Amino acid sequence: MDIFTEIKSHEQVVICNDPNTGLKAIIAIHNTTLGPATGGCRMYPYKSFDAALNDALRLSKGMTYKCAAADLDFGGGKTVIIGDPAKDKTPELFRSLGQYINSLNGRYYTGTDMGTTPEDFVHAMKETNCIVGLPEEYGGSGDSSIPTAHGVVYGIKATSEVLDGSKSIGEKSYAIQGLGKVGFKVAEQLLEEGASLFVSEINPHAIDALIKRGKEIGNEFIKVVSGNDIYGVDADVFVPCALGGIINDETIERLKVKAIVGSANNQLLEDYHGDVLLKKGILYAPDYIVNAGGLIQVADELYGPNKQRVMKKTKAIYTSLLEIYRTAENMHISTIQSANQFCEQRLEMRKQRNSFFSHHRRPKWDVRH
Ligand code: NAD
Repeated sequence: MDIFTEIKSHEQVVICNDPNTGLKAIIAIHNTTLGPATGGCRMYPYKSFDAALNDALRLSKGMTYKCAAADLDFGGGKTVIIGDPAKDKTPELFRSLGQYINSLNGRYYTGTDMGTTPEDFVHAMKETNCIVGLPEEYGGSGDSSIPTAHGVVYGIKATSEVLDGSKSIGEKSYAIQGLGKVGFKVAEQLLEEGASLFVSEINPHAIDALIKRGKEIGNEFIKVVSGNDIYGVDADVFVPCALGGIINDETIERLKVKAIVGSANNQLLEDYHGDVLLKKGILYAPDYIVNAGGLIQVADELYGPNKQRVMKKTKAIYTSLLEIYRTAENMHISTIQSANQFCEQRLEMRKQRNSFFSHHRRPKWDVRH
């Protein structure tokens, strides 16, 4: 492969190889127009270097868009560690990663992603300040699924308004896939608003817990749906909070909902599925706009912990989503195209401002010090 062709839209790619600790990792920095790059660290037994590089490049680009959409002063980056999280983790491996991150001199901040936990980064933080999402006892901001769930509910409010002008989300019915950290909290908030729920979840304990919670709240309209039947439920809004790739040719055929708003990452199997939804008249809330609450919280850690500020920033998901919907309607494009344009415009505006003030800019990378 021609490596420079592969990484042509990225600013920097760092290959980390430490035979002493067994660390094999790739740090991809996509774009730092808005500020230092940020993006979690994924650990996965990739079959090849190319597979790991592809993932790092794809995910870091996604982070640039997600940061721009959430109006954060951060760019996009991502780390992938090639290894099995069940077997290959050691404190030394994460300290070694911390040293590589530190060598970037504040150009990149990282934290947890699939296959890594906040505790892993307690080791990395011994080597660098550029870590976010630490456990609360180490100065981190705690459970990021709380703002993520709030963001999803703001997304549902914006969507409800566009669907029928109603701000009341409690009058609608919802098909929720996944009652994990985010899905459960979204379900709770919807029950509190008086909504009717259809839920599918592979863990029966989560279903029992929601039914118990429904009784406490005084809203027991919870219908359990098994497996893939969730796609065919006749509800107003589908709320995917489990898997990616679930909006595809097969599931779109079955969907009866008027809108899709959920936290799951990479919901569309391919971008063209955004157009298929548009043709079918289903309003799609782009996942990376709606699920940014957790990112907003970890990015905000750098200004010192403040839950109220995080909630205020998360609320902006409501107005951003309304703007994205409006542009999509006016330009007759899919909402995912509209969201991408929204982010590219923010990046372009900042690029112009950066170059205008380039002679007397304050140091860009020393966010925390
Ligand atoms: P989680 O692992 O706590 O919850 C996922 C739930 O989905 C689990 O309870 C699991 O049993 C269930 N599930 C798995 N397969 C299922 C299936 N086929 N049908 C029904 N249920 C199924 O994860 P989470 O933190 O709640 O995140 C949910 C989604 O939101 C993920 O895609 C995640 O990447 C995304 N997300 C989460 C955050 C966050 O702050 N936690 C932020 C952004 C995006």
